[in-house]
Amino acid sequence: MLKFYNTLTRKKEVFKPISEDEVTFYHCGPTVYWTQHIGNMRGVVMNDLIVRTLEYLGYKVKLARNYTDVGHLTSDEDEGEDKLEKGAKREGKTPQQIADKYLKIFERDVTALNTRPADIKPRATDNIKEIIGMIRILLDKGYAYQTDLAIYFTVLKAKDYTKLSGQNLAKNIAEAGKGEASDPDKKNPADFALWFFKTGKHKNAMQTWESPWGKGFPGWHIECSAMAKKYLGDTVDIHMGGIEHAPVHHTNEIAQSEAANGVKFVNYWLHNEHLLANDVKMAKSAGTAYSLAEVKAKKYEPLALRYFFLSAHYRSKQNFSWEALAAAAASLKKMQNKIRELKETVKLSAEKIEATGINEHYRGQFIAAIEDDNNIPQALAVLWETLKDDKLTADETLATVFDFDSVLGLELTKVKLDKTAVPKKIQALIDNRQKFRDVGDFAEADKIREKIEQLGYEIKDTPNGVVVNK
Ligand SMILES: [Zn+2]
Repeated sequence: MLKFYNTLTRKKEVFKPISEDEVTFYHCGPTVYWTQHIGNMRGVVMNDLIVRTLEYLGYKVKLARNYTDVGHLTSDEDEGEDKLEKGAKREGKTPQQIADKYLKIFERDVTALNTRPADIKPRATDNIKEIIGMIRILLDKGYAYQTDLAIYFTVLKAKDYTKLSGQNLAKNIAEAGKGEASDPDKKNPADFALWFFKTGKHKNAMQTWESPWGKGFPGWHIECSAMAKKYLGDTVDIHMGGIEHAPVHHTNEIAQSEAANGVKFVNYWLHNEHLLANDVKMAKSAGTAYSLAEVKAKKYEPLALRYFFLSAHYRSKQNFSWEALAAAAASLKKMQNKIRELKETVKLSAEKIEATGINEHYRGQFIAAIEDDNNIPQALAVLWETLKDDKLTADETLATVFDFDSVLGLELTKVKLDKTAVPKKIQALIDNRQKFRDVGDFAEADKIREKIEQLGYEIKDTPNGVVVNK
C-alpha cells in the first residue's frame, strides 16, 4: 500500500486519489529571476521521484509546475521589491526577458537531471484573468478588503488558518516577519496581499494590469491558487513544495482556495527538506548557492548529482559538499561499470533483456521501499543488492535493475559497452604487477610489464596510478 507523510495530518497515510484514472499533482515552481541553485534542483528531483513512483505503480499523473514571473517580493511577503524587477534592474532587461532567460536555464537544468517534464507549465502572467476572477470571489464572499495600497485576504475569517504549519497565529506572524507591515490600513498583520496597486512603493511597478479595482499586479500566493484551480480543479490530490513554504505560501494558498472554492483544496501535502552546504542552508550570500553549471564545470555529470540526491530521503536535510558529490560520482561510475560488465556477459539486445523476467524477490523489496513514503535511499540499496547478487543470471539482473531505474532515473539502459575498456585479463596482470612493486620486487614487476606489452598494451606509472594505452 502506497503511503505518504501528509504535512496536514502529520502522519503517514495510505494514498487514495480522487479519481482512479488520474492523479492531479501541483508542484510549486521557480520564481524565474535568477539561476536556481542545486538546492532548488533537489526539490525538483524529489518531486520527480514521487511522480515516477506513482507512474511505476500504475497511476496516470497530471503534473502542473508553475513559473512565478510576477508578484513574488524579496521578503516572500508583502514587503520588499518584486524579484523579477530586481532581476530586470540587475541585468538591464525587461522583466519578461528575465523570465524567458531563467525559465530556459531552469528547463535545461531539470532536463539534464533527467526529470520527467511537467505536463502543464503555466506562467503567472498568462493567468491574470483567472487571478482577478478569484480575487473577485474572495471580495464578494467577504474574505478580502481593499485599502489604498492593496487588496488583502482577511486571515481571521479563514477556517483554521494555520492548520498546515500547526503554528498558532502569533508565531505564524512572527515567523513570517509580518510585524513590519507598511500599510497603516492593513487590519491584521497576518493579512496578506492578493493584489498590489501601482501606487506607493509600487508606483513604478514594471508589470501591471488593469483590474476592476485599479491598475496593479497580483500577490504571489494567489497565483498558485488560481493556476491549481484552472489546470487541476478545485481539489487537488497532491501538492508539493519546499518545507519553507508550509507556514506562509502554502498556508495562504489553502486559505484562499478553500474560501473561494468552498471545498478542501489539497488532500496530501508533501514537503521536501533543504539541501545544506557546510551544514547550513545554501545561500548566495555565503557563496554556496551552487548552480548546475558549476557542477558541470567541475567535470561532474548531472546524473552524478542526481545519484547524490537519491542517497537522502526527501523529508531529511541533506548536506552538500564537493567531496560528497565526488563520492556519489564514484558510486555511479561503479554502478555503470557493473552494468557494462553484465552487458558484456550476456550480449543481449534490449528487447531480450526486457523479455526476461524481473526478479520478484527484489522487486517486492523495491516496491516496499518506494511505497513507504518514497524511501528512495532504501530503493537504491535494493538496486545495489540486486546488482551484486551473483546467484541471479546476468540477464535477470539487468532486467530487474532496468525496471527499478524507471523510478530512479539514472539512465542505466543507456550505459554503452566500452570498446576502450581494459580487458579483465590485462587488468589482472596490472594488479599482479602492482603487488610486486609494492614489496619492492621490481624484477618480477618488469617481467609482467613485458608480458603486458607483448599482449599489445602499454603501461605508464603516474602519480595518479597506472595509465594503460592500447
Ligand atoms: Zn506555489
